[in-house]
Amino acid sequence: MNDDNENKYRNKKGRKGWVKKTIRDFDIKGKKVLMRVDFNVPLDERGRITDDTRIKSALPTIKYAVKSPSKVILMSHLGRPKGEVNTRMSLAPCAKRLSKLLGKNVKMLGDCVGPEVENAVGNMRDGNVVLLENLRFHKGETKNDPEFAGALARSGDIFINDAFGTCHRAHASTEGITKFLPSAMGFLVEKEVNYFEKVLHSPEEPVALLLGGAKVSDKIAVIENMLKKIDYLLIGGAMAYIFLKSRLKGTGSSRLEEDKINMASEIFSKARNSNVSVFLPEDHVIARTITAHTRVRVVREHIPDGWIGLDIGPRTIKKYKDAIKDAKTILWNGPLGYFELRPFRKGTTDIAKFISRLNATTVIGGGDTAAAINALGLARKMSHISTGGGASLEYLEGKELPGIAALQEK
Ligand code: AMP
Repeated sequence: MNDDNENKYRNKKGRKGWVKKTIRDFDIKGKKVLMRVDFNVPLDERGRITDDTRIKSALPTIKYAVKSPSKVILMSHLGRPKGEVNTRMSLAPCAKRLSKLLGKNVKMLGDCVGPEVENAVGNMRDGNVVLLENLRFHKGETKNDPEFAGALARSGDIFINDAFGTCHRAHASTEGITKFLPSAMGFLVEKEVNYFEKVLHSPEEPVALLLGGAKVSDKIAVIENMLKKIDYLLIGGAMAYIFLKSRLKGTGSSRLEEDKINMASEIFSKARNSNVSVFLPEDHVIARTITAHTRVRVVREHIPDGWIGLDIGPRTIKKYKDAIKDAKTILWNGPLGYFELRPFRKGTTDIAKFISRLNATTVIGGGDTAAAINALGLARKMSHISTGGGASLEYLEGKELPGIAALQEK
């Protein structure tokens, strides 16, 4: 196994620590700390938060800044309001929840830029916390408009990025703003970077990469970058079917990105060249419809016409457990079946439980996989659950994340 990439955000050869500044590198006492957090939480139809993991993940940095004491000005996006004010995507529920979690009042402001905001921030005392309104109510945010970034910067003396989930986007609040203020990462981003740098550049071997989910296109670049670094590649979920189809297995009416079949063949040959063992499902849980009370069957090898492959079968579960039992580093992104419905949850559940008991570094990509692990109550048993779905995939693709790259170096 070789590693031709240099660590991106860490000091090179011999020097310990980070290239990028962290919040500890600044004396923030009495300062206005403008902090990008990821409060893009799921809301139900009545606007209540259904999962506050993202808010909780930002607490260590927020508490540190409060205790300093400094003035803490938080900013985030929520949903995709596309540059228009949309009260259903207000961050007000997050201010309420954060107040509860912190045990102190978090004032919600009506906007993220402008005179009202500047006035409110000007009146803050040390230890106070305010939350600015949804950044994406302004078109300038996703366009990375310098004028908008400059307007945001007026609320802070120092910029801290603790929103790992948006670090792969060059937006005004992640990238543009660093041109106006001294900048550093918060503890959450530091932890994420720490784990990803470790698994990418100095993992304990053997290394297993477990990929599932539906969108193969999202994961091809990950496979290509990781083949040089891993020993085992295990594939489940709907993305397995293009690999099976390229080996002439019947895939019935399973979800399939037909145009990616050639890619699958290429990946097999690259894996062979890199000495990576590739594991594919040997049996499948299938159904005629994707519904909770549908009749299911387990089949070996081929999925018959009219049937949909919806989970890995019991033989595959056993084989995958066997393959990873001695792995020292396990990376997992994407559910192994249609886990939202009970009949198709067993592959994801069994493998998650198994991994949680292993003596290995376990890093779980964000999004659906993180949700599945949280729902199973296994979060504490994993080494790291990433808060960024897209960001963690881009990290594993070997891409530079603009929100981190833009931060000041030590
Ligand atoms: P992705 O965003 O690509 O990680 O895909 C996640 C989605 O893939 C989840 O909603 C899963 O339900 C879905 N999924 C996983 N396995 C299958 C399958 N065999 N058939 C259809 N959807 C699946």
